[in-house]
Amino acid sequence: MSGKCSLVIIGGGPAGLAAAIYAGRADMKPILLERALVGGQVAQTMDIANYPGFPEGVDGPQLAEKMQAQAERFGVEFRTQEVLSLHRDGDDFLVKTKGDEIQASAVILASGADPRLLSVPGEKELRGRGVSYCGTCDGPFFRNKRVVVVGGGDSALKEALHLCKFVSELTLVHRRDELRGEKIYQRQVFATDKINIRWDTVATTIKGENNVESVILQNVKTKAEEDFATDGVFIFVGSMPNTSLLKDLLPQDAGGHVQTDADMMTAIPGLFAVGDVRANSYRQVATAVGEGATAAMAVEHYFQKRHAKT
Ligand code: NAP
Repeated sequence: MSGKCSLVIIGGGPAGLAAAIYAGRADMKPILLERALVGGQVAQTMDIANYPGFPEGVDGPQLAEKMQAQAERFGVEFRTQEVLSLHRDGDDFLVKTKGDEIQASAVILASGADPRLLSVPGEKELRGRGVSYCGTCDGPFFRNKRVVVVGGGDSALKEALHLCKFVSELTLVHRRDELRGEKIYQRQVFATDKINIRWDTVATTIKGENNVESVILQNVKTKAEEDFATDGVFIFVGSMPNTSLLKDLLPQDAGGHVQTDADMMTAIPGLFAVGDVRANSYRQVATAVGEGATAAMAVEHYFQKRHAKT
């Protein structure tokens, strides 16, 4: 099916949803394409403690559901489709999915990020059989079991705290002697008896026949190795932005992010990028929402300028 529309939003996380709400309300009749679950990473976060307006915290899937309902109220069309390619078509863009080809006057790329792999032996083989990238999703499978969490950022700390509701023992493995995550999470981690921290340590191999049985931990200073028995390995070592659609269109930085101006517009007029795909984004739900809203308003100005020229 081919079609034409003013704006396509690629990705249904908080950045894409906020863009959709603003663009819908501005009567742009946007189409939002999401390959999986609307909400993105937020749909896998049970308690968002720092989103303004919710002093008790807010449940991520519920927040995403409400944002989607708000966007639908303003006439946004949601399609569950993976975008396969994005090309320029004169001043417009051609967005191809498995079944559709949409010509759009502007595109907001809000395709988010996927977990970064640790890239050690055993990781791929035991994924889903003890190796996980989502404590919120898989925590209940590890009730009364021992797990290792790799990483020292906000994701590792937050997910470790969540996992403590289920597991009997949690070992946090961090490659330095100082955590990167927010101080508030650090304090909670230090205060939790179930969490032991292995400083200056990396996981070099994940072992197991059918399921994870152990992990080789190596102290980066002494080089001493230990075959550490565990039932699960949760990996939170950052994320990789989903910018492969831009590969023939725009350069990306070393981390795969794309540069934009303050209006969220990339170097290509009419192509905007928001949230985890954008260089220098703070990667918070609140900032993603702000970026999405900014981009939608900037698209409106872009259309006004474009029409004034013709
Ligand atoms: P991150 O902040 O990049 O942290 C990644 C962690 O993994 C770091 O501690 C890093 O160690 C470690 N690491 C990276 N590569 C590694 C490797 N190969 N082996 C061992 N360890 C490795 O990623 P994130 O925690 O996913 O957070 C991403 C962004 O989302 C951040 O901006 C964060 O603030 C935000 N976020 C916020 C919240 C919230 O509740 N506010 C929750 C989740 C995420 P080093 O410290 O040594 O670099």
